[in-house]
Order: sequence, then structure tokens, then C-alpha cells
Amino acid sequence: MAMRKKAKKKRPKTFFETLTEAVNYYIDNGWDSEKALLSWSNKLRIASHRETADAATTRNHLTAIYKRLVIDGGALKDQPADGVNAFTLKKMKPDLRKELDRRIFAASELIKLNRTQAIDKTIQRFQGWVSSVPPGGTNAADRVEQKRGIMGALEDQGYIDRRVAIVQGHKLASNVTFLISIQGGAIAFKWHSSWRRPGYGYRKDHKDRDEKYYLIRDSWAVTQGLIKPVDGYYDEITAAGEEVYCSCKALPIYAPQKLPAEFLTEKGKREFNRA
Ligand SMILES: [Zn+2]
Repeated sequence: MAMRKKAKKKRPKTFFETLTEAVNYYIDNGWDSEKALLSWSNKLRIASHRETADAATTRNHLTAIYKRLVIDGGALKDQPADGVNAFTLKKMKPDLRKELDRRIFAASELIKLNRTQAIDKTIQRFQGWVSSVPPGGTNAADRVEQKRGIMGALEDQGYIDRRVAIVQGHKLASNVTFLISIQGGAIAFKWHSSWRRPGYGYRKDHKDRDEKYYLIRDSWAVTQGLIKPVDGYYDEITAAGEEVYCSCKALPIYAPQKLPAEFLTEKGKREFNRA
């Protein structure tokens, strides 16, 4: 009976394990050669790249938001009674799906960029530290402390990734509302700022926008001369959710009668006072 040879595949070393080896090496030996340092730097780079592949968390987060808003119809909650209905939402699915893909792409590019910067910073710090170790090694160094100092930027990555996911999630939700509202024939957005929410770091200029109405340029009501801007057009300000951590909302308005009276032109007043 043939012996089954089980080739146990060795698990590649994590960044932390590689860094531990590198720090131990230099504490024991001190600086020896440029070649050795480049080789350690390279090992660290490879190990850190291996750990960067986790874009899945962000993708899942954004896909869950998409599912809630589009598949399960959650986006309709921000729509008034005369706004977009389930049928229109369903019809728009391909466009909204594209928006999801765009947000996933943006998030993964940002995460990649942040990672690359963090890895570069870490390698730089490692090389800087090595150059400070005396020839022949040292007994003075606290190995754990040294590693922690070098790791810094990389350890923050989980936090930074989550932040990217949250920001892109806001943008996704806000853009879904925007796209379906435009498609549904909205004529304005009423700004809603959460400045009253305790602990929310609102922007002052966004608080000032609270309850204001921003017209959509070239909507049918503008084109027919029924309404005029009072607080300006929506394309003149940053969109809700566009700036980092902005959780403001832009709630669509579909009928000129739903706007305050000062938005109606003379023609608009004649038109809507008829009834
Ligand atoms: Zn805001």
C-alpha cells in the first residue's frame, strides 16, 4: 500500500511575523549589509501586500446598502406620496447597479491607495530604525516596543478601511435618492441636516441649508416658467452625502404646490390658484 504523502503547504508568514523576524535579526546582529536590508524590506513588502486583499468587507457593506435601498425598496421611504414608486425603482435597477459598482470601485481604489502609503511609511520607518541599531546588535532595545513603533500606520488600516466604507455608503445612498428622483421628475430637493442629533459633527454651512429648497435646473416646472429659485439650484452646492461624513439628506419635491409660495412665478401663481 502506497503511503500517501501529504505535502503540507506552509502558510505564508504574516506581516507581523515577518516584522518580528526582521526586528530580532537586527537586534541580534545589528546592521550588516545593504543587501540584507533590501532583502528584509522586500520580505516585509510582500507580506504586507498579502494582507491588503480585504476589499470584501467594503464590498459587502455597500452591497448590503444597495440591497436595502434598491432590492428591498428602502429608497422609496424618502419619496413623498407623489414621488417615485416601486415600478420606477425596479425599472431603474440597471442604472442603480452601475452606481453601486462605481462606489465599490471608488472604495477599493481609496483603500489600495491608503494601504500603499501605509506600507511605504512602514518600510521607511523600519529602514530608519535599522540604521539606528549599533553594529553587532543591541541589548537595549525592547523588541515589542520597536515593533509597535514600526507597525503604527499599518495597524490603523482596519479603521481607515471602515471609514472609507462608511463614506462611500453615504454617497451610495444619497446618489440612489438623487438618481431615482431625477428620473421620477423631481423639481427640487429640500435639504435636511441632522445637526440636532447629539454628537453629530455637522458642518455649519450644512446646518444653514436645513429646510431650504434647492431647485433642479431644467426641470419641467422651471422650463415652463412656473417656479424660480429662492435659495439657488441644487447643482450649485455640494450634494447631500458628498463631503466626508456628511449624513445630510436631500428630500425630493415633485409638485410646485409643495414649494413655499415665494417659489412660484406670476405664471405659476395663476396656474396653481386656478384650482
Ligand atoms: Zn452635511
